[in-house]
Amino acid sequence: MKSIKTDVVVIGSGPGGYVAAIRAAQLGKSVICVEKDSVGGVCLNVGCIPSKAMISAAKYYYKMSHLQDMGISVNQKDIKLDTETLQEWKGGIVKKLTGGVQTLIKASGGQLLYGTARMLSANIVEVSTESEKIQIEAGSVIVATGSRPMEVPGFTVDQKRIHDSTGALALKKVPARLVVIGGGYIGLELGMMWAKLGSQVTIVEFTEQLLPGNDPELVSVVHRKAVSLGMTIHLEHKAIRYEETKQGLRVLIAKRGEKDHQNELSIDCDHVLCAVGRRPNVENIGLGEMGVKQDAKGFILVNSKQQTSVPGVYAIGDVCGQPMLAHKASKEAEVAAEVISGHLAEMDAVAIPAVIFTDPEIGSVGLTEIQAKDKGYEVLVGKYSFSVLGRSMASLETEGFVKIVADKNTKQVLGIHIVGPSATDLISEGTLALEMGALLPDLAMTVHPHPTLGEAIMEAAKVALGESPHVVMPRKKIESK
Ligand code: FAD
Repeated sequence: MKSIKTDVVVIGSGPGGYVAAIRAAQLGKSVICVEKDSVGGVCLNVGCIPSKAMISAAKYYYKMSHLQDMGISVNQKDIKLDTETLQEWKGGIVKKLTGGVQTLIKASGGQLLYGTARMLSANIVEVSTESEKIQIEAGSVIVATGSRPMEVPGFTVDQKRIHDSTGALALKKVPARLVVIGGGYIGLELGMMWAKLGSQVTIVEFTEQLLPGNDPELVSVVHRKAVSLGMTIHLEHKAIRYEETKQGLRVLIAKRGEKDHQNELSIDCDHVLCAVGRRPNVENIGLGEMGVKQDAKGFILVNSKQQTSVPGVYAIGDVCGQPMLAHKASKEAEVAAEVISGHLAEMDAVAIPAVIFTDPEIGSVGLTEIQAKDKGYEVLVGKYSFSVLGRSMASLETEGFVKIVADKNTKQVLGIHIVGPSATDLISEGTLALEMGALLPDLAMTVHPHPTLGEAIMEAAKVALGESPHVVMPRKKIESK
C-alpha cells in the first residue's frame, strides 16, 4: 500500500473542508484534502448555489408578469420557460465555482485527492481511491464530512417522483403538482421557487408555523406571500404514506398528535419533496473506534478551537451541528486551520447570521424579541416597514420590515431581523453591529445613503429610540431647567 506523510489531512471539500485546506496551506502546512464525491460539497453542487440560481430564475419569471403597476405588461403566454436551458445555466455556475475551488486549493500549495477517507487512528487516514488504497500519516486531521438529508418514514427517495432537495433541484420539467414535506427553509425556498414557475404546491409542516424557530412576526409575511402564490399550507400535520394512483401519487397526511389518524387528508400530486432536516455524515470514518465524542444525534462535539475529544482530530461544519450553514462551516474551518498552525484562534463569533431565500427573503442575526425576553432582558423594539421606504416603492418590493431588538437599559443591540427585499444582503450590517457591540444610536446616527433599502435599518433604530422623522412618534416632553 502506498503511504505518504503530510501535516494536515482534511476529510471533505465543502465550504468547511476546502476553506480549511486553503487556510492551512496559506499558513505553510502541507495539506491533503480528500473528497469522495464532488469538490465543493453540498453547498456548491446541490445546495446554496444551485438553489439560489433556480430561485433567481423563478423570481425573474414571476416578476415579468407582475410589472403592470410600472406600466410594463407582458402576456403570460409569451413568457417561455425552457427548463433544460435553466438546468444547463445552473450547471454552468456550479462548474465555474467548483473549478475555482480546485484551482485555489492547488494555487495555495494544497493537494486534492479523490477518494473515500477513513481514520485508522488520530494520525493515520486511509483513502480508498478508484485504483488503490493510500495510507496518509498526518500531524492533524480535520473532519469536514458534512451532512445529508434525513429520511421521511414511508417515503423512500428514488429521485424519480419522491425527491430530496438534490432531486428537486434537478427536475427537468416544472412539476404540475408538488407536495413538500417539511416547511423549514429548504422546503419553503424550493416550494416557493417551483410555485413561481407554475407548480401547484402543497406544504405539510409538523409544527405550528412555517420556518420553525424564526420570529413568527417575520414568518407571517412569508406565509401570506406563499398563500398569495397559490400554495396550500397544512401546519401541525404529518405526512404518513403515499399511494400510487392512475394520475400520479396520493399523499396521506394526518393532524399532529391525532390518534389512529381518524381524519386523514389526501393530496393528489405528481412529485414529492422530502425536506425534514439533515443528519451528519459520521458513519464509516473511524470516529467510534477512536472514541471521538458525539451528541445523541451523532453530531461531533468540539470546543471553541474546533478540537474533538481526541487530540489532533478537529471537526468543522455541518458534521458539528447547528447552525448548519455554509458560512459557519467556513468560519470554523479558518479557526481549525489557524489553531493547527499555532495561532491563538477561537470560534468566538458573537452571532452567526441566518439567511432564507424565500419571497420575501429573511435575514436574521442575534436574539429574537421572544428569546431576549426569555433571557430576562427588558427590551426596546423598533420596526420600520419597507412599505413606506422610497427605494422599496421605486423597486416594487414593499413587503416586509426591519425589526431591531435592543436592551432597554443599555441600548445595546441584541438582534436584527429583516423580512423583505434583499434581507439576505442587508443582514450583514446587522451582523457587524452585533459583532462590534453596537448601541441603537450607533445605527441611528450612521448616515445611510438615500434612497436605499439600508435606510430601513437606520430608521428602525430611530424608531426604537423614539426619534424617527419618517414615523409619527409620540412627542417628548422637554424638561425646563
Ligand atoms: P458539505 O458541504 O456537506 O461537504 C462535505 C463533503 O465531504 C462532501 O463533498 C462529501 O462528499 C465529503 N465527504 C463525506 N464523507 C467523506 C469521506 N469519508 N471521505 C471523503 N470525503 C467525504 N447554507 C447557507 O449558508 N446558505 C444557503 O443558502 C444554503 N442553502 C442550502 C440549500 C440546500 C438545498 C441545501 C441542501 C443546503 C443549503 N445550505 C445553505 C447548507 C450548506 O450547504 C451546508 O451548511 C454546507 O454545505 C456545509 O458545509 P460542510 O463543509 O460542513 O459540508
